[in-house]
Amino acid sequence: MKIAIDGPSGAGKSYLAKQIAARLGIIYVDTGALYRTIGLAVKRAEIDPRDVAAVTALLGKIVVELTYVDGAQCVLLSGENVGDKIRTPEMSMYASAVSAIPAVREFLFSTQRSIAEKSSVVMDGRDIGTVILPDAEVKIFLTASNEARANRRYLELKAKGIETTPEKVLEEMIERDKNDSTREVAPAVAAPDAILLDNSLLDEEGTVLRALEIIRENIG
Ligand code: C5P
Repeated sequence: MKIAIDGPSGAGKSYLAKQIAARLGIIYVDTGALYRTIGLAVKRAEIDPRDVAAVTALLGKIVVELTYVDGAQCVLLSGENVGDKIRTPEMSMYASAVSAIPAVREFLFSTQRSIAEKSSVVMDGRDIGTVILPDAEVKIFLTASNEARANRRYLELKAKGIETTPEKVLEEMIERDKNDSTREVAPAVAAPDAILLDNSLLDEEGTVLRALEIIRENIG
């Protein structure tokens, strides 16, 4: 079974995908973590994330692996568990910049594809339904209003003790979504066969129940 969940930032894709994985007993793959990890490597190497040649050259010097510890996904950057180092607003912007580079997408393609070939998965990202799992049985494009998404992301960052304001979160979110949806390679758009789920007016559990309904209707 392959389930693809795509959509803009702050729509609640990772919460939804984690819940679906737990309730269906399948593996959850957070693909954004892979792009964030490349962003971290680029930052540490003091490279401009838009410098295509330098970022491409760096890819030859790093190894990015996905592992699972007690059921939770961990990403290893040349053997180091990156943990929460990739969960900052700065890393969101680095991830978005490097994700527009074709060599980065190619570099991460087989890691994502091979896990779906070995196991039943629910994968969340931006190009899962269009590029990584075009053959997924269910594709959900999860979205919500700008204000709802920015507010959720703000509360998430605040809970982690990261200093920011709702206005700054909204501004960065709009910029990141624009980068992601207008890039030439694998733009973040809904697959033609994806089902749109707008959860502006739903809470977390309401979103999970609606998604499970969609899955049942499509897989049985
Ligand atoms: O989902 P998350 O916010 O962690 O993703 C970080 C960034 O990684 C996104 O803004 C996007 O630029 C990139 N990404 C992508 N394709 C994916 C997942 C994430 O381009 N499948």
